[in-house]
Amino acid sequence: MTTNQTHTRAAAIATPTRTKDIIRKHGFTFKKSLGQNFLIDKNILDKIVDAADLGPAKGALEIGPGVGALTERLAQEAGRVAALEIDGRLIPILQDVLAPYDNVSVVHADVLKADLRQLWQERFAGTESVSVVANLPYYVTTPIIMRLLEEHLPIENIVVMVQKEVAERMAAKPGGKDYGTLSIAVQYYCEPELVCIVPSGAFIPAPNVDSAVIKLKRRPKPAVDVSDEERYFRVVHAAFAQRRKTLGNNLAALVGKERKAELGGVFERCGIDPTRRGETLSLKEFAALADALAEAKLLS
Ligand code: SAM
Repeated sequence: MTTNQTHTRAAAIATPTRTKDIIRKHGFTFKKSLGQNFLIDKNILDKIVDAADLGPAKGALEIGPGVGALTERLAQEAGRVAALEIDGRLIPILQDVLAPYDNVSVVHADVLKADLRQLWQERFAGTESVSVVANLPYYVTTPIIMRLLEEHLPIENIVVMVQKEVAERMAAKPGGKDYGTLSIAVQYYCEPELVCIVPSGAFIPAPNVDSAVIKLKRRPKPAVDVSDEERYFRVVHAAFAQRRKTLGNNLAALVGKERKAELGGVFERCGIDPTRRGETLSLKEFAALADALAEAKLLS
């Protein structure tokens, strides 16, 4: 028998009544600066957890457990759960509400500073795979996603609640205003899939933006072949440095004025018109450009 079955479970945390009770009992006050909007909609939680495709042999890393609404569901679905929370006031609350579950570790840490590799070794050794599942604090969504992608951690899925317009940027295709460095980084490593749109009434306090749940399924290998990942992203960043400028002008700033004239040949070899804007280039075209710049010794 698992620990979960030996306890009589209280009502789910993700309800307005139970969440308010927990907050009142512990005298908790929300910190807007930490993006504290707690989920109180059980149906949305079900959609998040279903999308994460968990199971008893798998692990889940949660970022920002709050008062444990999602953590509780993860504890029921995954074999092991680690939850990183920056706000020290929430740690005793989490220890209290998650006491029925022996497969959860709550860690008091800032996800941007924590040693995630060590956390993997300590908490997830022996699990079949690990997914990141979180209702992210919106003020740091992009740095968190970039860290998870760039550190090459062995992550199966990233299923996260984010601001709706950030989800749109992650899934955007070339040619529109939403397409940029975040779209390219996400799509280079993962296949994005919009799970659902979430109205602000699903949280307390209600945020003043709409939200969305997005699933980023890690690709077995990146979407395009590049000879050097770091150089590829340097070119992508440079192409979007000033969105209104042409690709030619943005890349001239990258290679330096004195070598600007040599860019023409590189564009020609790649079949890319230098008067295009960065937002029109596919991941594959960026790969061709980055490799051609290296071959022409315009970039190291
Ligand atoms: N998971 C809970 C839920 O769904 O109800 C709370 C989500 S709330 C949007 C975001 C949580 O992230 C808050 O608990 C906040 O304190 C925490 N947080 C904010 N910045 C963080 C950081 N840098 N590292 C870890 N947790 C953070």
